Amino acid sequence: MSESTASRRTFLAAPLALQTVSAASTPSITKKVLGRTNLKVTHVGFGTMITSDASVIERAVDLGITYFDTARTYQSGNCERMVGAALKSHRKNLVLSTKSGKEDKDGALQDLETSLKELQTDFVDIWYIHAKSKAGQLTEGRLEAQRIAKQRGMIRFSGVSTHGGFPEIIPAAIKSGAIDVILTSYNFTMGASIDLLLEDAKKAGLGIVAMKVMAGGFRRVKPGDPHYNTFKKEGVFPAALRWALRNPNIDTTVPSITDHDQLDENFRCMSAPFSPNDASLLAVQRDYIRPLYCHACGNCLGVCPKGLPIPDIMRHVMYADGYGQFAMAREQYMELPEEVRSIDCHDCKPCAVRCPNHLSVAARMNRARELFI
Ligand code: SF4
Ligand code: SF4
Repeated sequence: MSESTASRRTFLAAPLALQTVSAASTPSITKKVLGRTNLKVTHVGFGTMITSDASVIERAVDLGITYFDTARTYQSGNCERMVGAALKSHRKNLVLSTKSGKEDKDGALQDLETSLKELQTDFVDIWYIHAKSKAGQLTEGRLEAQRIAKQRGMIRFSGVSTHGGFPEIIPAAIKSGAIDVILTSYNFTMGASIDLLLEDAKKAGLGIVAMKVMAGGFRRVKPGDPHYNTFKKEGVFPAALRWALRNPNIDTTVPSITDHDQLDENFRCMSAPFSPNDASLLAVQRDYIRPLYCHACGNCLGVCPKGLPIPDIMRHVMYADGYGQFAMAREQYMELPEEVRSIDCHDCKPCAVRCPNHLSVAARMNRARELFI
């Protein structure tokens, strides 16, 4: 048995408390190989979805972070331009990924051409099929676009990203033989089933990137809240990042970073392993976000008799309440058809939707209208 296999089995078998070691004192960089791509990436990467300050990205490069992730659609199509400008002079030393959610081959390839132009690069290292939840969404058209892009030298490796669709997408990506990297939600609210799937993906040679490691954000508790002092002093987000990093099957992570303090906080996580105190903090956070954090599992899709797209609206509310990105959240919410926005859950009792993750669906739908309309 190889050392890495042994360590992964130990991770899967051991209770949480036994996986902890004491924190190191000096920040240092740890790197991992991203599956069969052989790309070497820092264990903590950089998710740019809500970054608006390019100097944070530039300083991340100076600190030594080597993996940056963006998407064609982030920030209304403006994110790639900022990322490209910030990384231009360092491009050859970095691993850069972007995504397209386009349904068809030609549309996806057109997206890629735009991405390369905006990112000021001839190729991206990883190009993800964006945010899929069902195995059937890995269509031949999408896979064909990735094959063509590889042949043309526009991308080095192909990937797929998923939020709550990992139970279908990870096995489908393995089975396809065409996907090199999986970008998946992975955080302390998730059960053991995803760890087994990640183990399978790792054995199949796929690189694994974790996102949504902060489980929707929700760091903004107010003074007077019973959790305020704990969260303020102890830093629950680094604990969440360290939780993800403790899994040896996770090659890198792409937490959203908006300012220099968050950058420093995340950077330090590479040299401070998950601790018993982290576990305590996350237990508090898990309780706090239970009624707020949508796992994007899709179980409620099509259940509302009035046709509310619940996971989408949950995501918009999370961007506002969890990430603190009100403008982006409202912009996306307002793209919903008027007849959808006009549905008021106050007029519909009892709610027909039961969330297996204990969210009060009607309350969160009402929150969306309260915030955005
Ligand atoms: S609201 Fe609940 S059931 Fe619906 S996607 Fe979110 S976690 Fe899943
Ligand atoms: S209360 Fe529930 S069933 Fe009624 S409209 Fe709202 S989400 Fe749909």
